[in-house]
Amino acid sequence: MNAASLIDKYVMNTYARAPITFVRGQGCQLWDDQGNQYTDFLAGIAVVNLGHAHPEVVTAVCEQAARLVHVSNLYYTEPQARVAQLLVDNSFAAKVFFCNSGAEANEGALKLARLWGKEKKNGAFTIITMERSFHGRTLGTLSATGQDKIQKGFDPLVPRFKHVPYGDLEAVKAAWDENVCAVLVEPVLGEGGVVVPPDGYLPGLRELCDSQEALLIFDEVQTGLGRTGKLFAHEHFGAAPHVMTLAKALANGLPAGAVLADAEAAKMFGPGSHATTFGAGPVIMAAAGVVLEHLINRGLVEHAQAEGFYFKTRLEELAAKHPGVITQVRGLGLLLGLALNREAGPLVARLRDMGYIVGATQDTVIRFAPPLVVSHDEIDGLVGTLDQVLGQNL
Ligand SMILES: *Cc1c(COP(=O)(O)O)cnc(C)c1O
Repeated sequence: MNAASLIDKYVMNTYARAPITFVRGQGCQLWDDQGNQYTDFLAGIAVVNLGHAHPEVVTAVCEQAARLVHVSNLYYTEPQARVAQLLVDNSFAAKVFFCNSGAEANEGALKLARLWGKEKKNGAFTIITMERSFHGRTLGTLSATGQDKIQKGFDPLVPRFKHVPYGDLEAVKAAWDENVCAVLVEPVLGEGGVVVPPDGYLPGLRELCDSQEALLIFDEVQTGLGRTGKLFAHEHFGAAPHVMTLAKALANGLPAGAVLADAEAAKMFGPGSHATTFGAGPVIMAAAGVVLEHLINRGLVEHAQAEGFYFKTRLEELAAKHPGVITQVRGLGLLLGLALNREAGPLVARLRDMGYIVGATQDTVIRFAPPLVVSHDEIDGLVGTLDQVLGQNL
């Protein structure tokens, strides 16, 4: 039996998988087991920012794997030190806690918010989150998530999340009471359909949280690490959080997550309050070190910004050409969405047949999140193919 039939037989049926078995990647290119080539405009859901099989990541991982893979966080290891320093020196944060995924990073942030409420706000434990948000699949993070389809069947949920409409500062104020200890928000909605909030929204949330001594937590699991053309998406809006979570792109496809916090918030965690066995292991941190080096010192963020601008301009041209089908071009940098007047699924499948891997969210939105190393040529190829597909009236 081939991989697809074995996986369908032996792995739990939680994913609607496309009928392709990938065997190799290089940069933005992927190959399947039939020898077909594809251009990757999804990057494993905004993960493989340096592209597939990046030679420096390969070398760093292989060398570290041959030297030391795991000793736990009961001891110090060298690759973790460098990544922590790079993250803190290039963000609002004073300290970082490392873990293994986006959901786990958000769990850490939620636990930190609970401790904050106990210590600073008289036991307050309500956390305001947004409708159409996505924060993960653990019981805590799916309770924080503002989408019924993700919560369905898992009640009773973790209590005291209050969901309000995204992008609406007044709605947050209206929901406020003395039990609120934190606000959790994505600076740009990712799974929620690639939605950019109004300009004053994030600064307004910061001001509100400061005035109430509550924590503002940004979930930058998808938007962070260069994806939007800034190192962190909140830099577009001139508003820093007290706490921020990262994951997806942190180690270019190896599992890594992080909770970053300013000095006051970071004090909430002490020995014994939070932990992970695998978090920030040397191999993963070796990969993360290469990722951060390219983002911070080798111009990858600027490249993402320039290619994102070019890509968005090309998509806007396409929208002008197919006004009935494309209702909106949204997003920042290389996190872009095409809102359609129809189901995105058939177009995504057709693009795949024609050699382009893209995503769909919220049924009618095509999501693009290519590796940040994507080129003008690759963008032109995608846009030309999309133009053809849109003309086919799927
Ligand atoms: C993907 C994602 C998560 C969950 O990350 P996992 O690594 O799948 O647990 C959380 N928040 C946002 C904004 C995401 O895009």
